[in-house]
Amino acid sequence: MDLIESYGWNAHFAAAIAALGTTELVPARVIEEQRGMYRIMMATGERRVEIVGRLRLSGTLPAVGDWVAVRPAAGDDGGSIQHVLERQTKISRKVAGKTSREQVLAANLDTVFMVTSCNEDFSPRRIERYLTMIWESGARPVVLLNKSDLVDDSGSLSVEAQAVALGVAVHAVCAKSADGLGPLLPYLEVGRTIALIGSSGVGKSTIVNRLMGEDVQDVKEMRDDDAKGRHTTRSRQLFLLPTGALVLDTPGLRELALWITDSGLGQTFADIEQLAEGCRFQNCAHGSEPDCAVASAVEAGRLAADRLESYHKLRRELEYIERKADPEAQADEKRRWREIQKNVRDGRKKGWFPR
Ligand code: GDP
Ligand code: ZN
Repeated sequence: MDLIESYGWNAHFAAAIAALGTTELVPARVIEEQRGMYRIMMATGERRVEIVGRLRLSGTLPAVGDWVAVRPAAGDDGGSIQHVLERQTKISRKVAGKTSREQVLAANLDTVFMVTSCNEDFSPRRIERYLTMIWESGARPVVLLNKSDLVDDSGSLSVEAQAVALGVAVHAVCAKSADGLGPLLPYLEVGRTIALIGSSGVGKSTIVNRLMGEDVQDVKEMRDDDAKGRHTTRSRQLFLLPTGALVLDTPGLRELALWITDSGLGQTFADIEQLAEGCRFQNCAHGSEPDCAVASAVEAGRLAADRLESYHKLRRELEYIERKADPEAQADEKRRWREIQKNVRDGRKKGWFPR
């Protein structure tokens, strides 16, 4: 197997680069991004490259995990990224600012481990929130309940997690003792890319260290590399596990904000969306509408009230994000604000409101 295959190169990307219709560009995977410079892995090894100005202007910036078409400079370093090949999956967040803009934090992930722990971090609501985002990315979510050593019965927590993680595998693990990591092997096959997300302190780094083996932090993980790239795994954002899978670990993923859309929400709350088909009104908000099948399910104890509440909360957040992303809705909102401000000013003049 050659180097780029071990980095996950597949038929999808081969077709994407062939469609560019040029033989001058070579495929490479982005393994690190630093202040506008990219470290990439190509068939001949690592390089540092920049991106062509046209890409910078288009706003389609490469992210760690992206497959790109590169024009290598002569010699064994340098060059420029010319195209970002169509992503199979991507995990994004909204960028704070006047409007919502999507920022891709990681591309082409196969599996995302949502890590929580068996102590205070454990919360079905938090699991729902992360799963919504992972579903949205296109990657397969898996829930890891770490620190199983801290509770007598991690089984009951697994059951609780499973109740909100529809169609998602839940594994109780103990990174400290490496207990329960065996069942993760099927996700860690050669050329597969995984990432871990979850609150700080739940044990993501410890799990990665366990999967890497004891002493790997000090050794170069690149078997095909020569003496040049002397980078320990710690400084890496995308690195190879002994099983042949790749782990993507960027600072951005660690401090993830929420970027949700309809489809992610629909998959996380498939039970509610299915119940909703029985509501009298198609646009039922499952509040106080008559003949609401969702509300009846809560009354009958077939749906947990706090799960419905969580759904409403995420939906409100989604609407907020969509409003920010929509220039027309935004203009409306500005107009509304101006009106309110004017009313307040008028009200003050007339002495209705305090100044
Ligand atoms: P991260 O912020 O998610 O990367 O979390 P870390 O990997 O840095 O772990 C945070 C703390 O949890 C460290 O003190 C770890 O030693 C501890 N920890 C990690 N896994 C386990 C576990 O399975 N059991 C226990 N008891 N502690 C753990
Ligand atoms: Zn309803």
